[in-house]
Amino acid sequence: MKTAILNEKRIVNIIMLIIFTILLFQPSSYAQITDSFRFVFMTDIHVQPELKADEGFKQAIAKVNELLPDFVITGGDLIMDALGQSFERSTMLYDMYNEICNDFTMPVYNTIGNHEVFGLYEKSSISPDHPEYGKEMYKQRIGHGKTYYSFDHNGWHFIVLDAIGFTPERKYIGEIDSSQIVWLKDDLSKTDNATPIVVSTHIPFISVGEQMLKGGAAAFSPAAIIANSNDIIALFHEHNLKLVLQGHLHIVEDIHIAGVHYITGGAVSGKWWEGARDGFPEGFVVIDVNGDSFAWSYETYGWQAVAENESEKK
Ligand SMILES: [Zn+2]
Repeated sequence: MKTAILNEKRIVNIIMLIIFTILLFQPSSYAQITDSFRFVFMTDIHVQPELKADEGFKQAIAKVNELLPDFVITGGDLIMDALGQSFERSTMLYDMYNEICNDFTMPVYNTIGNHEVFGLYEKSSISPDHPEYGKEMYKQRIGHGKTYYSFDHNGWHFIVLDAIGFTPERKYIGEIDSSQIVWLKDDLSKTDNATPIVVSTHIPFISVGEQMLKGGAAAFSPAAIIANSNDIIALFHEHNLKLVLQGHLHIVEDIHIAGVHYITGGAVSGKWWEGARDGFPEGFVVIDVNGDSFAWSYETYGWQAVAENESEKK
């Protein structure tokens, strides 16, 4: 009897040891307890059938998949384009974008750009009464009913904004509208002051793009920058805003002000699929977060623009 009890104890001990060993050598599938992670910001994709843009986007996604980010944030201008085009052309591009996005092997969080807005330009001949007019097409086909939202990942808070405003003349401008500001205040009130925050916006908050391209006295047009950016930045005053990811300009810059990096993320499409834009090649931003800080790089993906190939033949 005594021997049997001892054997039972020994068996229990062995089982406990096995369980402990399994727990000790559990691989890094416990992602939530690691404090480093990678994500990608890809903006200004401008997918279209022309200039092999669809192939280019697929090539960019293949490179992203190799880099194994936890997720991807897109920065808007996903298609080319819905602003001044027919319903047929616009929905064909939305379908093309969604179809190609199936290649991603990780979650994708989309940001709306001006080119996703359906029928805004008068030349489109689309009536504002159309059921998918304006941002409705984006909401229904990409945004799951929304153009702005937030999510959390490994202790960081991500806010995806809609920076597209409309004028009475059916043009777009850079703007965060009043109802979104109400939502943003509420979202921030639920976010701990110490939580690192990343914002994604298509039209930039802050950029030196115009000065870089046109000289020091150049100013942005209302379509190229968010006019009420200071009001929005002020909302983050008590919070740990780390990074604002920006698109729209197809340039790469990192402006560091008061502890916040405003990174404009180049363009997957470069110069709208015609090669590099002012020296900035086709690419995307890779962000490696470590604890409370991050490092970033702009990665190209080896795309040769069709226009460049053709000019080489001449
Ligand atoms: Zn844009």
